[in-house]
Formats: sequence, structure tokens, C-alpha cells
Amino acid sequence: MSKALPQVGFVSLGCPKASSDAERILTQLRAEGYEISGSYQDADLVVVNTCGFIDAAVEESLDAIGEALAENGKVIVTGCLGAKGSVVRDTHPSVLAVTGPHALDEVMEAVHAHLPKLHDPYTDLIPPQGIRLTPDHYAYLKISEGCNHRCSFCIIPSLRGDLVSRPVGEVMSEAERLVEAGVKELLVISQDTSAYGVDVKYRTGFWNGRPLKTRMTELASALGELGAWVRLHYVYPYPHVDEVIPLMAEGRILPYLDIPFQHASPAILKAMRRPGNIENTLERIRGWREICPDIVIRSTFIAGFPGETDEDFQMLLDFLEEAQLDRVGCFAYSPVEGAAANELPGALPEAVRQERQAIFMETQADISAARLARHIDRTMTVLVDEVTEEGAVARSYADAPEIDGLVYIADGDQLQVGDFVEVLITDSDQHDLWAQLA
Ligand code: SF4
Repeated sequence: MSKALPQVGFVSLGCPKASSDAERILTQLRAEGYEISGSYQDADLVVVNTCGFIDAAVEESLDAIGEALAENGKVIVTGCLGAKGSVVRDTHPSVLAVTGPHALDEVMEAVHAHLPKLHDPYTDLIPPQGIRLTPDHYAYLKISEGCNHRCSFCIIPSLRGDLVSRPVGEVMSEAERLVEAGVKELLVISQDTSAYGVDVKYRTGFWNGRPLKTRMTELASALGELGAWVRLHYVYPYPHVDEVIPLMAEGRILPYLDIPFQHASPAILKAMRRPGNIENTLERIRGWREICPDIVIRSTFIAGFPGETDEDFQMLLDFLEEAQLDRVGCFAYSPVEGAAANELPGALPEAVRQERQAIFMETQADISAARLARHIDRTMTVLVDEVTEEGAVARSYADAPEIDGLVYIADGDQLQVGDFVEVLITDSDQHDLWAQLA
């Protein structure tokens, strides 16, 4: 009888970027012949991929490590929390190893040290596209790590370092493999997608023997040739973002732009260390809509930032009314340990921060509802995410998985997950759409 394969349990917390790290580790584990165990009891050891972005995430990560230690006892910690000094070791001194984010080699080294792999030439039979945590029909495509900005509320650069772009040929080959394996939608992620290639001076790489610049516009255009939906996330509002709008208008990539503006008051943007010319931003949004009338703009904001006056907040609400963004998220400012913004004067009481967030979201709810209602009586192509006896749940180009809305298709019970179908939109609210097969 052959020897049982070593079993590794895996717990992954955090954002899509952390999921992408997790996918790499899982792929490597399977490539080396480890089994991924679905329970603590069957695992020989457990890897916990943590998040350390806000205090609540730190707590959640520390709890997850504690649970894995209690249930299994042998735990390796990786991810953003691992980069935050000694917090993991101070709380859980018995963990086997602690690494920071994107530390595949270090994680594998720790796994080898505590759970040696079996030598078996047949166990590296894994699918060429690797192991993914997302459903088969969409996948995250990570194009870079780290960030060269120093937004005062954010500690990502201190956790993940300055921008490091992945070689463009490697990104394209991964995207190609994913599409060949059946992926219908590629979600381009990074900390700062529009900065792609800045660190390598937009070096020219090669994809299938063809020269290709390490640059967002060129990458987006090449990805658009693969025949899958291409969705751009975390696009910092640099001027050259304007260049990808024609690609959206041509249908080469989805007319969807996830572009965090964070605020609209020049004084607050300055305190945040973000680009501050809001008139210019409104002008650019108008220009984008002229070139690509269907463009959907998603953004995020922070309400109640230190020093935010009533006038600053009103400016933010006025911006919302003016900009008519499609999808918006808003956080009440909350201090993140280690962030420069904690030292700023004018911290607002928690109740005020919460109240401003609520007013902001109320204002946006009507705008989002009106933006969605314009789809009624239109035909749209949607991608099916789930099928039940009651119908299908899908998304249109306007909806990124997990963060935006859904399209409910009442007569879609015969569809398959991953199908592209044409639907007629019949109803909407402030978040979702309802439809029937066209
Ligand atoms: S651009 Fe994003 S990741 Fe970079 S410092 Fe600012 S908020 Fe953080």
C-alpha cells in the first residue's frame, strides 16, 4: 500500500490580493505532492494566510491562528499580519513559522522543515493553470506587488514595500493559461494597477515572441485579445488612465473602472497625500463618458478623515451629486495602527465619522438606483455565476464579483455556470437587476 500523502490545511483571510498569494501557495503545495485537507483533524499542519489591514482584520487573523493551534497544533503563518513586527509571535508563541505577504518560497521552506514531502514522481500532476480559490469561470490576475504612493491613511507600502511589477510576458502567459482552462473573466488586481511598469521604466517584454511594453494600456489591450472579459481594479487616478477608455469604447476590455477617489475636498486630499484637483477629476469623468457612454465607474471614499470640516464634507456630497458614479463604497475613517494620518490634528469623534458615512451612503443610494434604472428595457450580456431551481444569478459588465450587484434571471434555471447569455433587464433597485432571457 502506498504511503498516505502529507496533508496541509489552509485558511485564507483578507482581500483578493491575499487570495492570489494563497492560490500560488496552494498550487505549489499540490505541485510538490501535498494534499490540501478540508479539516483541521486530518491535516498534518495548517497554513494561515492573514490580513493586517485594519484592526478588525488583525483580530480576525489572530483568532484564526488561535483556532488552528487549538484544533491542530502545527501552524505556519503568512500574509500581511506576518509583516507587522512581532504581533503574531507575541500572541501565539507556539506557531512554527511566520512570514510576510507574497512569501511563497519562505512558506514552502517552513512546510518542508515541518512536514517533509513524499518523493513520488506522479504527484505533480496538477492542472497547468494551477489551483484557484475563485470559481472556475473567473480568476484574479495579479500584475504587481507593493505601491510607490504614501497615502497617509494606508500602511500597505510599509507591509508590502514599493511597487514591483511582474514581467509582462509572465502575466500574459498566466492569463492565456487561465483562459485556455475555461476562465471567462480576468480581474486585474494590484495595489496600483495604473502604475504597472513604473518600476521597470515600462520595459519592453515579450509575449509569444511579440514585444509588449510593461504598461497598463499595452497590457490591457493584449489581455483584450484573449477572448475573456477583462476588468481593471484599483486604478489610481493618474492622467494616463484616460488612455484605456478608448479600449473600453471598442469593447476590447470591459467599460468598468474601479478608481478610488477617496475624497473631493482639496484640503482633505492633500492631508491624505492624494491628487487634489477635483474640478479636473469631474472634467475627466465627463470626458470618459463622452468617449464611452456605457462606462461604469466604481470608487471608494473615506468620510470623517481627521480635520474634515462641515464644508469639506459638503464638498464631498456635492462631488457625488455632480459625478453620478455608478458604484460607491464609503468607510468611516478609522485609524490604522502605524498610519501617518493618526498624527494629523482634528480627529473627529467616532459618532461624527459614522454619521457622515451614513449620510454619504444615503446620498449615493439614490444615485446608484438612478444609474441602474437606465438599464431597464435594455438587453445585456451577463455571465452566469450560480444556477438554482429558482433561476440563475449572473453579473453584467457593470458588476465585479463579490463587491458589486447581481442580475437575477427568473427563467435561467437551465443555464450553466460560466455561460454568457443575453438577457432583457426588467427591474432594478439600488444594487441589483432583474431580468429574463432575451
Ligand atoms: S495607492 Fe493604495 S496601496 Fe498605495 S498607499 Fe495609497 S491607498 Fe495604499
